[in-house]
Amino acid sequence: MTTPDVELLGDPAPEPLLPALPQQRRVADSVHATLREAILSGRLRPGARLSVPVLAQQLDVSRSPVREAVQRLVQDGLATEEPHRGAGVAELDPAQLVPLYQIREVLEGLAARLAATHATRDEMELLRRAHRHHAEALSRGEDQQHVPLDLAFHATLRDASHNPELLQYLDRVQGRIAIAMLGGRPHQWSQHAIVEHEAILDAVLRREPEAAEAAARAHVARVRRDIAALHSADTEGA
Ligand SMILES: [Zn+2]
Repeated sequence: MTTPDVELLGDPAPEPLLPALPQQRRVADSVHATLREAILSGRLRPGARLSVPVLAQQLDVSRSPVREAVQRLVQDGLATEEPHRGAGVAELDPAQLVPLYQIREVLEGLAARLAATHATRDEMELLRRAHRHHAEALSRGEDQQHVPLDLAFHATLRDASHNPELLQYLDRVQGRIAIAMLGGRPHQWSQHAIVEHEAILDAVLRREPEAAEAAARAHVARVRRDIAALHSADTEGA
């Protein structure tokens, strides 16, 4: 693997950008997963160019799977394509979080509604465990665990919706939220999250679709209001 290109990275990074590709997976899938992870972790910064020849060289693969992977990133909403410039990592600023959260509110509500109807006993148990794990970590003061464990709870809920189309939309919104978050202040975790997740969990376990949807929407709407308040404080220079 060659040294990462500075233009590609957006900022110089000492460690290699991309890990070696496992041979057993389809090359385009591997390239897509690798680039997605690099974008969502912020190693490939918003605005960084996604040059097919440079990436193919870095990853030691041919250009066509790279081209396919980049096209998929564009479809995922993680990259944009501009005439004469090629593709680059999508640039979203924190002001775009509010419209994204408005969409997420509807989609998470639908996921909870469907989960209350379709979740298997095993999936209910996984959801209960994800929630307990999250609550216990926070009660031990492990605040840095909030974001990954919150996402794990929502991922478990989505899987229990048994609607693959919905998963694709949620992935897209979640990916774009992650990019917009990179440019903003870290959002403080709220005590409300555990209480709100508990309301979602209870409704799913009782198989009450309407209550589950209402609880999920209320949870995401509260996060959206918190983010909007944080952003208006930023623009006021407070
Ligand atoms: Zn949550």
